[in-house]
Amino acid sequence: MRVFYEDGIVVQDGIKEIILDPARPTPGSIVSHGHMDHLTEGGVMTPETLEILKVRKHSSVATPLPYNLERDVNGFRVRLRDAGHVFGSAMIRADDLLYTGDMNPEGGVTCGKAVPERCTTLVIEATYGKPYLNFPPKHVVESDLLNWVEFSLSEGPVALGGYDFGKAQELIALVNRLKVEVAVSDRIADIADVYRRAGVKLAYRRISELSESERKDPRVYVLPRGWLKPPLEESVSWLGQTGMRTAYCSGWCTIYDFTRRYGLDAQFPLSDHADFDALLRFVDACRPKRVYTVFSHPVDLAREIERRLHIPAEPLRMKSTTKVKTT
Ligand SMILES: [Zn+2]
Repeated sequence: MRVFYEDGIVVQDGIKEIILDPARPTPGSIVSHGHMDHLTEGGVMTPETLEILKVRKHSSVATPLPYNLERDVNGFRVRLRDAGHVFGSAMIRADDLLYTGDMNPEGGVTCGKAVPERCTTLVIEATYGKPYLNFPPKHVVESDLLNWVEFSLSEGPVALGGYDFGKAQELIALVNRLKVEVAVSDRIADIADVYRRAGVKLAYRRISELSESERKDPRVYVLPRGWLKPPLEESVSWLGQTGMRTAYCSGWCTIYDFTRRYGLDAQFPLSDHADFDALLRFVDACRPKRVYTVFSHPVDLAREIERRLHIPAEPLRMKSTTKVKTT
């Protein structure tokens, strides 16, 4: 079996070939999840990711394959496993190869968990693939965040910033535990509506529906990061006058100080990826004969897998660099 990157992760076995997370629409490909650096039309994907495709790319050209059902794709036996990263995210099993896509064994409030499984070849993401990229336990980060939100609400509105798909809906679900009103941008609401149609319990209003007199009420806003501080676009420029306390939520808060860079009040290392230690535990539990690492820090992760686990590992060979990891 040969594995390399050429406008997607190409897997060849004899005369069979399959492409995972292609850079451009490719019939017969497999798409792991709905973040924009992975999402293309035309491939096989979970029904949940297909719904995200409709909202984010206004396309329904895809073949739905529910989790854990087997389907023949280009001669490979393919199954999609929960990746625990975002709603609908999947690890891709093709014969005895497992590609994790973006994944999180801790899972989230609005998705399941990634469970390791025996495989011969493992292709694993290396987003947090350096030894110092570790987060506190997720439940600790979540309770820190909710404590800060509750405390800050006593002084007025609170705004939480995060990526439009995945993080924002996790934040809505977390804040819903406090039984306070949540208001979100239309883009975040359009995606959250997909979750709700699939039965995920999320309660929120659209900012665009708030009357002028309601705008300064104590509530939690869940917003794109760019909306946490002025200058804001015309339609929401009033947010800058609410005196809202602001926090950004991202795994990268574990090493970067966004509070100083963007003038925010707080930040929380809430991640939808595995951290470094979780990546190593995942590899160990899959007991692969060979590992390929991909995205962000593949060289570091491959080196540490060989050194600590004594499993042959190397960065996925790139034949093309047209696809760049952005989230
Ligand atoms: Zn992702």
